[in-house]
Amino acid sequence: MQRYDVVVIGSGPGGYVCAIRCAQLGLKTACVEKDKTLGGTCLNVGCIPSKALLESSERYEATRHSLAEHGISVAAVSIDLGKMHERRKKIVAQLTGGVDMLFKKNKITRLSGLGRIAKGTTAGYHQVVVTRDDGSEETVEAASVVIATGSVPSNLRGLTIDNDRIVDSTGALELAEVPKHLVLIGAGVIGLELGSVWSRLGAKVTVLEYLDRILPGVDGEVATEAHKILAKQGLEFILGARVEGAEVKGEDVVVKWRSKDDQTHEVTGDRVLVCVGRRPFSDGLGLDAVGVALDNRGRVQIDGEYQTNVAGIFAIGDVTRGAMLAHKAEDEGMAVAEILAGGHGHVNYDAIPSIVYTHPEVAGVGKTEEELVQAGVPFVKGRFKYAPNGRALALGEPDGFVKMLAHKDTDRILGCHIIGAHAGDLIAEVSVAIEFGASSEDLARSCHAHPTLSEIVREAALDCARRAIHK
Ligand SMILES: Cc1cc2nc3c(=O)[nH]c(=O)nc-3n(C[C@H](O)[C@H](O)[C@H](O)COP(=O)(O)OP(=O)(O)OC[C@H]3O[C@@H](n4cnc5c(N)ncnc54)[C@H](O)[C@@H]3O)c2cc1C
Repeated sequence: MQRYDVVVIGSGPGGYVCAIRCAQLGLKTACVEKDKTLGGTCLNVGCIPSKALLESSERYEATRHSLAEHGISVAAVSIDLGKMHERRKKIVAQLTGGVDMLFKKNKITRLSGLGRIAKGTTAGYHQVVVTRDDGSEETVEAASVVIATGSVPSNLRGLTIDNDRIVDSTGALELAEVPKHLVLIGAGVIGLELGSVWSRLGAKVTVLEYLDRILPGVDGEVATEAHKILAKQGLEFILGARVEGAEVKGEDVVVKWRSKDDQTHEVTGDRVLVCVGRRPFSDGLGLDAVGVALDNRGRVQIDGEYQTNVAGIFAIGDVTRGAMLAHKAEDEGMAVAEILAGGHGHVNYDAIPSIVYTHPEVAGVGKTEEELVQAGVPFVKGRFKYAPNGRALALGEPDGFVKMLAHKDTDRILGCHIIGAHAGDLIAEVSVAIEFGASSEDLARSCHAHPTLSEIVREAALDCARRAIHK
């Protein structure tokens, strides 16, 4: 029986990064993956394919609507959806193949099949049974097992995902034609990104959201602005809508929903996209048999060093607590590898940015204003709009603002929330600032190149002390 220092189950951004870091640190490492390609949700059906389609659809939208003011006219603009999908698939293949290459380079054994943890027979070792597609099995031993099995889309009672008329996020990446009317259930990050794709490509999009706001978890002021801008772009929002079921009738789907005043309503579209969150995935892992505990939300329970209640079994990424984000999974993968190699792994959960790749982008790091108010933390707020910034105007991107939150007494940066062009890139400097424990004054005193959008971040930092220059 092959014996490894570490067997990682799952090759998403958590698992593959963990495996690479373990190998770099000299640990004999294997990674089990049930799917044909490495890279998990993120590379195959998540971050990467969605961003490929967001880019294509944004270019289509910009070509149709944003060139005239530059004095550029285009005779006819059309879409070849097949080609757009080909481009998406090529990018995915390039990246998943890249992970394969990195495994080979780092001498990581790839075990193809469904991984299940079983009771070990050798002291100090767990067993991992790998069931291949043809039903054959291979059992290996591991001193440490890292569960990195990620998450899968959640569903609502009363809805059957057929990935034809009623699709989840994976199905929404594959639609072979632009829907006439897409009914989107859920106004969270994934829903609004995919809704934006199909809206830009010509679909009417109606968004049904149970809460009375969009983008739960995002700073309230930023989410309100996003709601306004996306509605202006043509997305129709119905808030406070509890979806109770959907019925396919030929080429149509009738979605039934109930409003807060207990009235029932219907909306009919030709496709329905269900984006109501994701659930941690640990099916078939055999956790019961080895006694690994889950919490009340089905997540693998871990301690401060990512270890489950069973010694030698660890968990990272979407399958455990915290934000379901690729970079959070990656950082945990690196941290656990450092710990397994006898070092110290650490993730600063206050410095993990999150980004919504709509247009404009929405990005945040650290605490939201609501969280600070609720925790009773005294803070100052610096705010600066995109509109007075020269680069924003040159880019034709005057919408949005940066909001900086710093402690009232110490001036330490506690959070930053941005809506506007390239928000996802701008947030990086604030993540680093938070990681270094910087004050808003530190950021405000750092020289920022002109003309760049980063000057808006600096002005927001200056505004914490009411020193913004262009306000
Ligand atoms: C449409 C969409 C867009 C997204 N966009 C972003 C984004 O822009 N930025 C961002 O940060 N996050 C984004 N996410 C979320 C991101 O994809 C996840 O947070 C991330 O993939 C989690 O990584 P992970 O390693 O924990 O798990 P996953 O990526 O889910 O990988 C888990 C892997 O484990 C494998 N597996 C499961 N069980 C077993 C088993 N028993 N044996 C063998 N293999 C197994 C699975 O096949 C899978 O390959 C998006 C998600 C979706 C769906």
